[in-house]
Amino acid sequence: MKNNKIWLVSATVFVSLLLVVIIMAAVMRYASTTLLERDAEHTALFWAEFVGGSVRDLDTLLMQGELTDRAHEDLKRFQRVQEVFRFKMFNREGHTVLVSDDLDNPADSQPTKSSIGHGNDNVRNMVLGGNNVILLERNPVNANRPAVYSEAYVPIRRDGQIIGVVEVYVDQADRTARIERAFTLVAGALFILLSAIGLIIGLIILRRIELERLADERMRYLAHHDALSGLLNRMSFNEALHEAVWRHEAGGPVFSVLCIDLDHFKEVNDTLGHGAGDEVLRQVGERLRSLVRHGDRVARLGGDEFAILQTGVAAIDDVSTLAERVVELLARPYDLGTDTIHCNGSVGAAVFGVDGTTEEDLMHKADLALYRSKAAGRGTFSFYDEELDKQLEARRMLTSELRTAIGTEQFTLHYQPQFAPDGTTLKGYEALLRWKHPTLGAQMPDQFIPLAEDTGLIDPLGRWVLRTACAQAALWPDELSVAVNLSAAQFQQGDLVEVVARTLDASGLAAHRLELEITESMLMNNTQLVTQTLARLAAMGVQIAMDDFGTGYSSMAYLWRFPFDKLKIDRSFTAHLASDPKVNLIVKSIISLAHSLDIRVNAEGVENASQLEILRTHKCDEIQGYLLGRPVPDDQLVHLRSTAAVTCDAAALQAMDGSAPA
Ligand code: C2E
Ligand code: CA
Ligand code: CA
Repeated sequence: MKNNKIWLVSATVFVSLLLVVIIMAAVMRYASTTLLERDAEHTALFWAEFVGGSVRDLDTLLMQGELTDRAHEDLKRFQRVQEVFRFKMFNREGHTVLVSDDLDNPADSQPTKSSIGHGNDNVRNMVLGGNNVILLERNPVNANRPAVYSEAYVPIRRDGQIIGVVEVYVDQADRTARIERAFTLVAGALFILLSAIGLIIGLIILRRIELERLADERMRYLAHHDALSGLLNRMSFNEALHEAVWRHEAGGPVFSVLCIDLDHFKEVNDTLGHGAGDEVLRQVGERLRSLVRHGDRVARLGGDEFAILQTGVAAIDDVSTLAERVVELLARPYDLGTDTIHCNGSVGAAVFGVDGTTEEDLMHKADLALYRSKAAGRGTFSFYDEELDKQLEARRMLTSELRTAIGTEQFTLHYQPQFAPDGTTLKGYEALLRWKHPTLGAQMPDQFIPLAEDTGLIDPLGRWVLRTACAQAALWPDELSVAVNLSAAQFQQGDLVEVVARTLDASGLAAHRLELEITESMLMNNTQLVTQTLARLAAMGVQIAMDDFGTGYSSMAYLWRFPFDKLKIDRSFTAHLASDPKVNLIVKSIISLAHSLDIRVNAEGVENASQLEILRTHKCDEIQGYLLGRPVPDDQLVHLRSTAAVTCDAAALQAMDGSAPA
């Protein structure tokens, strides 16, 4: 296509130039002929006039054909004058009376009976009719003559009557050469100019063709690719899928589809802006591309949804290996220049022939598997399995139940005590949400809080928790505090500070008695928004605690960013405290580090006396866990020293809390 156009342009330019050259040559020839004829006429007239005026007995020669001695003498002087190298004289009838060649030996003079115009009657009639006639001769047959000369016929008059005709031979070789040289120069310059113009026009046209081609290519690229990530778009991915099915049916290899979704990507967009969101998507695209083998296809299906078509699957391990690598690679931090953020990806995989036998079916199954990954806590991968549909359905149902439960009496708060390391001094409680569904029974927060976060229901639910916790805590003894868990979504609305202030005001609870627990993941992605909000809350006197410390990627990094009042060591550390010396060392270091930053430390999930003992020696500030008390409803709180609880047996503890141990 492009080559054709280039050929066409080149041919057009070439033909145009050729045409210009031909026309120029013709014009040159015509102009030089005209010039030469005019010059010959001029010379001949001048010569004839001179001859007519100064040759004696010219009349006798022309009218009677007799060359007198005087005429011979005079004419010999005019035989060669300037460019005139020969002449002939004719009488009134047009017959030759003298040829200049004969002047040298007049004895032989026997004028040939040639006539004007070498027998051309037209010329003869014109000359005898009184006109000058010029005949230009180029490359004459006679080698003794100049290369270019003119034969100019000029009538000679006496008293207005034509008495004869002279034919003057004018040598024009020199002049022709000069004219041709001048013309060649002009033509050369003109040719160069035109060639340059032609070249420029040609280049402009070629450039335009090139631009058109690029635009065309870009259009075609955009039709098949996602502009942001450069990956295939949904349409192209479907085509690739279609082809893979077709190949498989023709005996080709087994393939799988991996559906990938970024966890909490919306938060990145909402808090850091779309520019940052786009950058993350671009980097995700790059990472995915770097993972796949030749022949595999990577696509962005839209938003934060990606997909991989993995070809040549020999064993199920091939799929899980790739899926695990996707999860691992996407979990690495994203460098956005000013910020570094974390954004996990969840992956759902389905294998053709095993999980689905049509394109639609396979995509659907991979999608369901993706949901399963999300439900399993995100940042993970799952295969499709038959159970999936049921689980998914249950999840949908639970979401809709959750929606209707808000604003009803189905929610309550349980409070878990927090003690000083002596195990007896009660310092406060952590409020933990409970949902008792009329038919489904007790639902644990780990199951429904993520649902509430995904659907935006966390906002009204979170406000209810805050209101209830503050109102109930306001009735407790003054020295006891209440800790409330916050979700990332609660920061997004932008009115958290006002909500807290109003709630404190309405409940009458002193600000320093309220403690807000946030997790590291909230800081990871919305550092600015969250730290600013926290700073305003802290300024109000509210305590801020970092929850689940040690479970994130870079816990330490966030400790510098915000002056926390408290740090809660995650119960996964506590669980291994007594059994694993390394964990023991880590916990010891965390506590000493926190103390050096003036941060108090709470250890969660303390279930036995040896854990308590170790934490005590490490100078942990606060103990929370089943050993000292399970979460119980407000009306069961007695705000007592925990000695009773410490001595209680496990069954009694179980009975205190409606919930099963996590
Ligand atoms: P969390 O903030 O880490 O809360 C502590 C969890 O550990 C609670 O589970 C508690 O019952 C459990 N736990 C306490 N002591 C022990 C122990 O000795 N051993 C063991 N194995 N577990 C212990 P729960 O109540 O199921 O809450 C789970 C998570 O749900 C909480 O983790 C918190 O992240 C979230 N959550 C609970 N209530 C709320 C709420 O009102 N708002 C928000 N946003 N999240 C909440
Ligand atoms: Ca907590
Ligand atoms: Ca915790």
